[in-house]
Amino acid sequence: MINEGVTVLAVKEFFTSVEEIEFVQVNEGMLARILVEEKSKARLEDSPISLFVPKDSNYFEGGIFSPILGSACGSKSEGYEVIVYPAAIALSLLGTARDTIRHELGHIKRGHCDREASGKRRGLLRRFSEEVSARFYASTGI
Ligand SMILES: [Zn+2]
Repeated sequence: MINEGVTVLAVKEFFTSVEEIEFVQVNEGMLARILVEEKSKARLEDSPISLFVPKDSNYFEGGIFSPILGSACGSKSEGYEVIVYPAAIALSLLGTARDTIRHELGHIKRGHCDREASGKRRGLLRRFSEEVSARFYASTGI
């Protein structure tokens, strides 16, 4: 579990890198409202999902053309964490932050976070199956 103010190892999408980042939990404001709305649309109202952002609001990773926008982790029993990175907010006019949250909820909804797979197989699953699936959910809601 990620706790407020605690430095954790964040494993980013595609496992491009692992780095220590400090996160803070978001309980109110625009992102929190979007999470509530999108949880409802995804029929995930009953799932425990916490929202976090990096403490450093200038944190940027992934390159100009493919910045890291978000990630999701956790499990049904322990609860899930969705992280929205500043690039999703900075680039946004709202759209990108919402799209990012929808995308990450897509991963949760489809059980990707609960899957047991590790190492290379996990990386391949992500790249070729889960990412496509989450993008499809984010754009269609199906
Ligand atoms: Zn994804």
